[in-house]
Amino acid sequence: MSVLFDPPPPVLIPTCEGDLFPVRRLFCIGRNYPEHASEMGVDADRQAPFFFTKWAETIVGDGATIAYPQGTADFQHEVELVAAIGKPGRSITREDAMAHVWGFAVGLDMTRRDIQLEARRRSRPWDAGKNVEQSSPIGLLHPAAAFGNGSRGRISLAVNGDVRQEADLSELIHPVDRLIEFLSGLYTLEAGDLIYTGTPAGVAPVVPGDVMVCRADRLSSLTVTVGPPAA
Ligand code: MN
Repeated sequence: MSVLFDPPPPVLIPTCEGDLFPVRRLFCIGRNYPEHASEMGVDADRQAPFFFTKWAETIVGDGATIAYPQGTADFQHEVELVAAIGKPGRSITREDAMAHVWGFAVGLDMTRRDIQLEARRRSRPWDAGKNVEQSSPIGLLHPAAAFGNGSRGRISLAVNGDVRQEADLSELIHPVDRLIEFLSGLYTLEAGDLIYTGTPAGVAPVVPGDVMVCRADRLSSLTVTVGPPAA
């Protein structure tokens, strides 16, 4: 039998140690900072997280220029801490959760906000608002041993030098160990899975030409430029 066409190339994220981390799936947590839930006009759920998924092929790396996407007039930034799973598991307890984490990076969950909010209003899925081409920039991965468990440290995003989002990871409603407990109660988490842990307040639109710089304590920064729409 012949393979009918080329399978997609693997999606690989560089680590600060010079290795490549193969990406499997993206789980993205919603409303995980109180002030962001408030700015979106909704209540945060302190009992249980919720999530949506994105394709691995939405990943782009540090220094990328991403095309302004089709179908939106309100493309917004969401800076997020990203946890990278390195060891498979299901029904993982909070106590065991960190043993499944390879490391962390700072990332962006770029969003067609107009489409997402229309979907929310009509009780429809968020895919078209969230699972957008080139919508998941991510910086270098750093091992958890050097970073910690994601429960403290500043995270911020500036656009053209102006800080728009800034928070401390201690504000996360559902911390990383709880997210792993939750997701692994629904799926077998696999090595290569990424968990985008949610964004702080201050989400706002970008336009072509804007340069976003994301920073988190003890992690490499992530710089992404918004380009014109793809031809
Ligand atoms: Mn998000």
